[in-house]
Amino acid sequence: MPICQHCGHPWSRLETIKASFTLGAAMTCPNCETKQYLTPQSRKKGTYFSLLVPVFLLVTSLLGLGWLSFFLYIGTVSAAFYFFYPPTVELTDEEKPLW
Ligand SMILES: [Zn+2]
Repeated sequence: MPICQHCGHPWSRLETIKASFTLGAAMTCPNCETKQYLTPQSRKKGTYFSLLVPVFLLVTSLLGLGWLSFFLYIGTVSAAFYFFYPPTVELTDEEKPLW
């Protein structure tokens, strides 16, 4: 689980997911409210998770699967995101370039 580099607060799974839904690059620590950034390696891992949705949409359209499989997949992806994404998050105090 991610740990704030400013105050050392270990973020919970739910805090990590809530902080991930932001438009900017910075995520706010729920304990000290300083801005934290994903490490470049962590951002790359997050990209792989976000690719699951368009890949599935392509597969369902190619195979002609219905809405039930769509909702089952969305539920599966949401559960996978909840359980597997937060442990991959690593935080840093300063924003670093991806490459
Ligand atoms: Zn903090």
